[in-house]
Amino acid sequence: MRLATAEINIPALRYNLARVKEIAPHSKVMAVLKANAYGHGLVKIAQCLSDADAFAVARIDEALALRAGGLTKPIILLEGFFDPSDLPILLANNFETVVHDESQLAAIEQSDLDMPLSVWLKVDTGMHRLGVEPEQFDNFYRRLKQCDNVKPAVNLMTHFPCADDVGNDFTQTQIDLFASIVSGTKEALCLANSAGVIGWPDAHFDWVRSGLMLYGVSPMLGKVGTDHELKPVMRLKTRVIAIKHVVQGDRVGYGGRWQCAQSTALAVVAMGYGDGYPRHAKQGTPVVIKGQRYGIVGSVSMDMISVDIGSNEAQIAVGDEVEMWGPTLPVEEVAVCADTIPYELLCNVTPRVSYEYC
Ligand code: PLP
Repeated sequence: MRLATAEINIPALRYNLARVKEIAPHSKVMAVLKANAYGHGLVKIAQCLSDADAFAVARIDEALALRAGGLTKPIILLEGFFDPSDLPILLANNFETVVHDESQLAAIEQSDLDMPLSVWLKVDTGMHRLGVEPEQFDNFYRRLKQCDNVKPAVNLMTHFPCADDVGNDFTQTQIDLFASIVSGTKEALCLANSAGVIGWPDAHFDWVRSGLMLYGVSPMLGKVGTDHELKPVMRLKTRVIAIKHVVQGDRVGYGGRWQCAQSTALAVVAMGYGDGYPRHAKQGTPVVIKGQRYGIVGSVSMDMISVDIGSNEAQIAVGDEVEMWGPTLPVEEVAVCADTIPYELLCNVTPRVSYEYC
């Protein structure tokens, strides 16, 4: 019997894509599949997203894996390429590249290419990560438009660092700045990540780039996916492998960090940081057994976690299923308990976990 398993709900995934289209009805959707489709399985997820208009990944290897898996949709490389020797690979595989740096533009201008490339020019409107500065835009745009190695339509994009907070007007400032920078052009525009889709209708434009919300998870502060009528896609589950009894004063797990205040029963579950469960999840982080929540106690080990099942011992047995996150326990909530974000928890699921697509 497989223990740690990520159950992936394909109808929920497809529903979430439909929900993106419902919220942003006039935009094409770029499904963001980087980092193994946020831990859900790159090729399998792509195969199930036939209604997406394009896929976006961070690295060339991810894009090549999609082509090797038989996916023929447009694929956008969100970080672009690093070396001029990558350019023939992009062309041979029909990859579209983001351009955010002079080194990339120079490489495109100076290469001898058989065909023109599809390019997305990224503008930095305040995140200060990737993108050309607003004052560099005219120069980059003109050179791309004049370059024979680039297709005539140069798509334009920017990225939001704070769209998860609808009370922060920085996103509106970015939208306005971007609109003024690109106002003289007639190119396709792409601004919104999931938080932009959900919280900033003014940012929808021609394309949206949704990642997290496709997986049924909320990017918004203090919210969970169901607050936006999304359905969680991953259920991370395992089994109880032992029941232990402890009495007042007993210490549990590595470092003896949790001390038992009164006699109780513990369920030992087969899940640990070796499966991607966060080692720093705090005492009391919930798991669900037979529809009821119980708190974890002691340190998360590589392979196991102890759960205080208290007075419900009689109802729980070795072999019972345990949901670590999923439809009955939002991953957003577990992320708060581990002082991290749901993105990290999903991406961190390790190859030891088996996947069931249903
Ligand atoms: N666009 C870019 C440039 C990104 O880096 C990401 C993810 O980090 C996304 C879109 C998708 O973001 P989200 O998963 O919040 O929708």
